Amino acid sequence: MQPNPLFGCSIRRSTAIVKPAAFAYEAPETVEEALALLKRYGEGAKVLAGGQSLVPMMNFRLAQPEVLIDINGLAELDYIRLQDGPEAGRGLAIGALTRQRTAELSPRVGEHCPLLAEALGHVAHAAIRNRGTVGGSLVHADPSAEIATVLTTLNGRVTLRGPAGERTLAPGDFLLGYLTTGLAPDELLMEARFPAIRPGARWGFLEFSRRQGDFAIAAVAAVLELDSGGACTVARIGLGGVAPAPLRALAAERALVGRRIDGDAIDEAGRLAQEVCDTEGDYHASEEYKRNLAGVLTRRCLAQALERGREAA
Ligand SMILES: Cc1cc2nc3c(=O)[nH]c(=O)nc-3n(C[C@H](O)[C@H](O)[C@H](O)COP(=O)(O)OP(=O)(O)OC[C@H]3O[C@@H](n4cnc5c(N)ncnc54)[C@H](O)[C@@H]3O)c2cc1C
Repeated sequence: MQPNPLFGCSIRRSTAIVKPAAFAYEAPETVEEALALLKRYGEGAKVLAGGQSLVPMMNFRLAQPEVLIDINGLAELDYIRLQDGPEAGRGLAIGALTRQRTAELSPRVGEHCPLLAEALGHVAHAAIRNRGTVGGSLVHADPSAEIATVLTTLNGRVTLRGPAGERTLAPGDFLLGYLTTGLAPDELLMEARFPAIRPGARWGFLEFSRRQGDFAIAAVAAVLELDSGGACTVARIGLGGVAPAPLRALAAERALVGRRIDGDAIDEAGRLAQEVCDTEGDYHASEEYKRNLAGVLTRRCLAQALERGREAA
């Protein structure tokens, strides 16, 4: 087996073709047209957004759709709005077709969800982020993906639309595992919703990859809120790359709430974060290495969050 460094999986040498199989092409002009096409072609169809994951997969013939449904003409899916919501509270609603680079540079994202803006800066290279979309990354569901890691950390929501109407899912119901989501073949991802980082909250994002722009071997996002006496009232820690899908380090979060975040608290959180890793290791790193990295990055990320709070004070 020959390892595929882009997707972290293995492909047989005999299938390492670099041209896609033949496919038909549709370019709907509205969401309704796109949904009608998805209904007509079912599992034979694939939505084309930025093409930064789908096209390489087609070139390697890991994906062989009969029909590509190109949603790049759906301007109605390209937006970043600040709004209040019943489940995720005040936050940013980001249309699925919003380019990763647009979100990264958006003053609205920088102000209300700086954690997302910073994480986006780690996605691949700027040229890829210029084409890659927020929705495409979420549907591709790479376990290391920064956008999914932030969505999980903040307990955001995704909205899907299909023939039966719209449904909204929490990260755990959408990101089901390695390259696997709860999206049905006849559904479109419409929007992702990222809860705002509250004023005064501290946050951090760190990842480690072999080269800049590579998928992370492990990534950690953290948000902390402290009361006036310095005790932690809210802790969120999300891990990417160390399980089939991003996950929260809930025991580590619980260990921080109610206490001052000193060196001992940070060490304990790092140890507990290591314990939730659910990885067998892969082409890039062994299980032991990834687990250790998750602990190291968690400690550094919490320290980064605290340091940022001090700078802002
Ligand atoms: C060299 C390289 C390095 C990369 N490094 C990183 C990295 O470090 N971190 C990272 O997160 N990503 C990385 N990526 C992936 C990149 O972020 C992709 O842009 C992203 O994964 C897919 O977004 P896209 O818009 O290009 O989607 P596409 O490739 O067009 O589609 C991806 C999948 O999502 C489906 N899809 C897309 N939009 C919708 C929708 N609205 N509704 C339903 N289905 C939809 C498609 O059918 C397909 O299955 C890298 C890619 C490359 C080529």
